[in-house]
Amino acid sequence: MQAVLDSPIEYLKGVGPQRGELLRKELGITCFRDLLFHFPFRYIDRSRFHHVREITDEMPQVQLRGKLGPLKAVGEKQGRRLTATLTDTTGSIELVWFKGLRWLQGSLKPGEEYIVFGKPLSYRGRPNLPHPEMELASTWEHGIDAALQPVYSITEKLAARGLTSRAIWKLQKALLPQIAGQLPETLGRDQLQLLGGMGREEAFRQVHAPRDPGLLEAARRRLKFEELFFIQLGLLRQKQLAQRTQHGHVFDRVGDLVNSFYTTQLPFELTGAQKRVVKEIRKDMGSGRQMNRLLQGDVGSGKTLVGLLCMLIALDNGFQGALMAPTEILAQQHFTTLTRMLGSMPIEVRLLTGSTKAAERRSILDALRLGAVHIIVGTHALLEDRVVFHKLGLVVIDEQHRFGVAQRARLWAKSTVPPHVLVMTATPIPRTLAMTLYGDLDTSIIDELPPGRKPIRTVHRYDSSRNAVFGFLEKEIAMGRQVYVVYPLIEESTKKDSSPQAALDLKDLTDGFESMSRRFPLPKYAVGMVHGRMDQATKDYEMARFKKGETSILVATTVIEVGVDVPNASVMVIENAERFGLSQLHQLRGRVGRGADQSYCILMTGDKLGNDARTRIATMVSTNDGFVIAETDLRLRGPGDLLGTQQSGLPQLRIADLVEDQELLQQARQVARRTLEEDPDIRLPKNAPIANTLRERKDEVVWGRIS
Ligand code: ADP
Ligand code: MG
Repeated sequence: MQAVLDSPIEYLKGVGPQRGELLRKELGITCFRDLLFHFPFRYIDRSRFHHVREITDEMPQVQLRGKLGPLKAVGEKQGRRLTATLTDTTGSIELVWFKGLRWLQGSLKPGEEYIVFGKPLSYRGRPNLPHPEMELASTWEHGIDAALQPVYSITEKLAARGLTSRAIWKLQKALLPQIAGQLPETLGRDQLQLLGGMGREEAFRQVHAPRDPGLLEAARRRLKFEELFFIQLGLLRQKQLAQRTQHGHVFDRVGDLVNSFYTTQLPFELTGAQKRVVKEIRKDMGSGRQMNRLLQGDVGSGKTLVGLLCMLIALDNGFQGALMAPTEILAQQHFTTLTRMLGSMPIEVRLLTGSTKAAERRSILDALRLGAVHIIVGTHALLEDRVVFHKLGLVVIDEQHRFGVAQRARLWAKSTVPPHVLVMTATPIPRTLAMTLYGDLDTSIIDELPPGRKPIRTVHRYDSSRNAVFGFLEKEIAMGRQVYVVYPLIEESTKKDSSPQAALDLKDLTDGFESMSRRFPLPKYAVGMVHGRMDQATKDYEMARFKKGETSILVATTVIEVGVDVPNASVMVIENAERFGLSQLHQLRGRVGRGADQSYCILMTGDKLGNDARTRIATMVSTNDGFVIAETDLRLRGPGDLLGTQQSGLPQLRIADLVEDQELLQQARQVARRTLEEDPDIRLPKNAPIANTLRERKDEVVWGRIS
């Protein structure tokens, strides 16, 4: 049945060994199926013709019909190009090519009539057409050609060898008659009905050779839905499976520790959102299944406290808790916070990081194994094999973006019954991404900040108004406040990075430190500096000085990005703000606004800003809402970049788009859920196509799992 689709691509009419090799190398197309799944990324209307006389360089695309003049090779080396004129009844226009000259010279036929399509540009005050698509008028198939024409992504190499988008289209049209009966339906009756009944084979036909806009739309919708539906179905089935088979520790007691913490230690009321979230988590941990939950909450929303309460629940049930942070600074800070919050309660909390001394490490490890340590706070060091727990019940992971999936999996291996896992993130993930990435996880959201916080005021200032900014800092410091000044410093983690950019960045930072020190001199002011290249002791020392208020200005890099908590700091100045991504800017801004004072974020940039940078800055100035920022970030950067491609765990999508197709994704998820509710094991006859598809795809990817 699959034989035709599996045929090597060179066997397709019009391909052959040479083009086959090119398609394989450039687009990864090795067989008929690959070509079929190489979807157009847009469509152009080829039904309208223009006249040469009416062309201006403002027109996005033009289609002309005219006679091709002689080909002329002009210019030398880099400037070498091929030109020819095209003449119609109203005038002539120059066509020009810079690539693939030899191929063009061999295949274009001067003197013949051509259909020419391209984007006009202005050259020496006159419009010309660079790299137009050329089609002999005699082979132009009216009816099919004069319609919506798909545009396929190609590479320069392909274009240079004549494999243009149009050539790919022709290959698709050669392929389509051969797929009849080769593409079994994948969706069940109900899903098909929802999509207006467009069958799978028909959908492929319409997408590659659309007959009219309505059918094309239905076809694209059908194929996108199918793609998203199977991802969601996979995730939901995984969750279903986990619920059936993965037992978890049952925490059914709310005991002394939680109660006495509440009554004797907690200096404030929980926010409504914190209460709701703790309740959700408690219910989950008492259910008998292992919890895998994502806790989202904007910076400063009080996630740490939620994490602590959940660990106390574990302790009350006779288990240990672990809190894992991505950096030493953060682990240290969590340790201090927890110790302070727990006060005199009889709970043993220890800190384990890469820099814990050997003797102390040994004693911690012993105590952990015997159960004498109740809560362990640490970094990646917690993942090492020699870290053995007495009874690990709950792992809280802070700021999950920096932990790879594989690392989380190692925690799992630490006991036969896996611990409950709570992943806390302050980088809100857009709904669609969360659904696709963590679709098998449960989600809790803290959507409320503790009372009394004033929203941070964010402004954009150009470098030219630096003096006014310094004047403002002076006033804030005079009121006893503290200031962060953050510089971009790339690749902080690679210690011996000697790239020119990194060297420049480091110079910017130290120059910044020096000019701040000059502008805010001792003894009235004190300026500190931290960056990732410092040794740990120096970093800790500088952070501690700032925390204690001994320095009023801290010049820093993004090492202070996550989690660092100095409530008295009320101003965040971000230098070269145009060089930061949106979520990074938001994270940095979250370092202020932690106390009761009015806080400020000042985004400094040069005068010239690109479009994206402008949007980022404008977004920061207009909103403090992390979810809005995450959505914008997704739109600007695309899902892969947003999460860091390597560990993003995002499935590769062929036709659907997580930004454009958000509604369809939600629908696909709902439909998948309904399908499973009605037919948990996909056994009903009407769902047979789904069952078949699942069986066939069983060997394919396991979608991004968190733990
Ligand atoms: P997050 O980790 O979500 O960014 P934190 O847990 O660091 O936020 O909390 C930010 C600050 O708010 C901390 O100083 C914390 O003590 C305080 N806080 C947390 N919950 C409350 C609350 N319900 N009421 C008042 N302050 C709170
Ligand atoms: Mg935090």
